[in-house]
Amino acid sequence: MTIPFDNSYARLPGRFHVRQEPQEVAAPALVALNDGLARRLGLDPASLADMADMFAGNRKPEGAEPLAQAYAGHQFGGWVPQLGDGRALLLGEVVAPDGARFDIALKGSGPTAFSRRGDGRAWLGPVLREYVVSEAMQALGVPTTRSLAAATTGETVWRETALPGAVLTRVASSHIRVGTFQYFAAREDREALRLLADHVIARHYPGVTGPEELLSAVMARQAHLIARWMSLGFIHGVMNTDNMAISGETIDYGPCAFMDAYHPAKVFSSIDSQGRYAYHNQPNIALWNLAQFASCLLPLLGEEQAAIAALTEILNQFPAIYEAEWLRLFRAKIGISGADEGDAALIEELLAIMTAGQADFTRTFRGLATGLAAAEFADPEPFRAWARRWQGRIAGEPAPETLMCASSPAYIPRNHRMEEMIQAAVAGDHAPFHRLNAVLSRPFDDQPDAAALALAPEPDEEVRRTFCGT
Ligand code: AMP
Ligand code: MG
Repeated sequence: MTIPFDNSYARLPGRFHVRQEPQEVAAPALVALNDGLARRLGLDPASLADMADMFAGNRKPEGAEPLAQAYAGHQFGGWVPQLGDGRALLLGEVVAPDGARFDIALKGSGPTAFSRRGDGRAWLGPVLREYVVSEAMQALGVPTTRSLAAATTGETVWRETALPGAVLTRVASSHIRVGTFQYFAAREDREALRLLADHVIARHYPGVTGPEELLSAVMARQAHLIARWMSLGFIHGVMNTDNMAISGETIDYGPCAFMDAYHPAKVFSSIDSQGRYAYHNQPNIALWNLAQFASCLLPLLGEEQAAIAALTEILNQFPAIYEAEWLRLFRAKIGISGADEGDAALIEELLAIMTAGQADFTRTFRGLATGLAAAEFADPEPFRAWARRWQGRIAGEPAPETLMCASSPAYIPRNHRMEEMIQAAVAGDHAPFHRLNAVLSRPFDDQPDAAALALAPEPDEEVRRTFCGT
């Protein structure tokens, strides 16, 4: 079959990217193909099924123009003037039957001009982890990059030990990041910034006119995205500016994790020793990243002081937009469709009780709908006292259980299940991977035969540290 590529990013000037063919691997084998996503793109899953060689990088599909994208970024607050795709290649873009444009990219496809000391490769664990989590996020209603395929390479990747190599085929509405703008801003390349802004507006924000409106639009999507993460107990783990997509999709599933026991300062990433990307810091960091984005737009505006004032005024609206969305989502999680002044305090009180009781985030909220939340607390008394006031608040609600069940999933990709899945896959057993995908494709439905996947970890199963996907 042929994929009808239309590569708008490849048509941008040469300094946006470096052309690079994927490197051949020894023995490509397909682990997973996402039929639903293939159809979404207008591709025939049946004819993709025997294309392991393509998904491992051994065969370039007709019309693909593989390239590594140039970008820069702040990593943990430290400026890095050149990062770029060091282990990924954009094959090209397809326009789906409904007109939506998508990047198709390989991750783990070999070294590029941006690899620095890296090997350009990925191992099976992070590839399957990204596949499961990104598809779970999609099913949970969170804007996200997606996973079209996972293939093993038949080659060994060396990390601390020998591991099976793999390639992920990632689909995104684009891979343009805050760091892409930073790359050109740092080089004082005003023409490239103008072209990039026009490209982004045409692609993601049609109707937007000018840099101020672009900043407002990107900011609104990020505020809504982070509120969604918060409403699910999701911690991205590495919110560097090169890992924030201008489209508003979640991108780069490295050391990310869903919380089990709730704590607002929770951190999983092994490299985040300061807690910069802790759960409760995520909105602040999003705003910090947006401020970096705003500064890249300055050269596109007129007189500098006036431009700074205008962009600052826009950024100052972030907290209100974020908090309104956060409140809307958490109201729904406790079964409130209307709005009372005391709702935010009611939600905050529950979160405080959950913190003190180390209650499981997902099970407690789901338990509000099913009447089982008290069981998540060693000492249920503070919760019961809260629940009496809450019952009073939702007494007039038309269908609180339905609202809660649609807002609080029964199933999330739990860290201990992900670890189990990866261990099985490395041993050659992909059944847990397929099982997780199947259950997580319907996260809001009770699935009695999958009850074990809704359980919190036992103390000896608990995962406290996650690692970057390298
Ligand atoms: P990440 O932490 O995944 O966002 O990656 C940060 C930067 O490191 C990006 O420029 C990546 O392309 C690069 N990178 C990560 N892993 C590798 C690798 N195995 N080989 C080459 N470059 C890598
Ligand atoms: Mg990245």
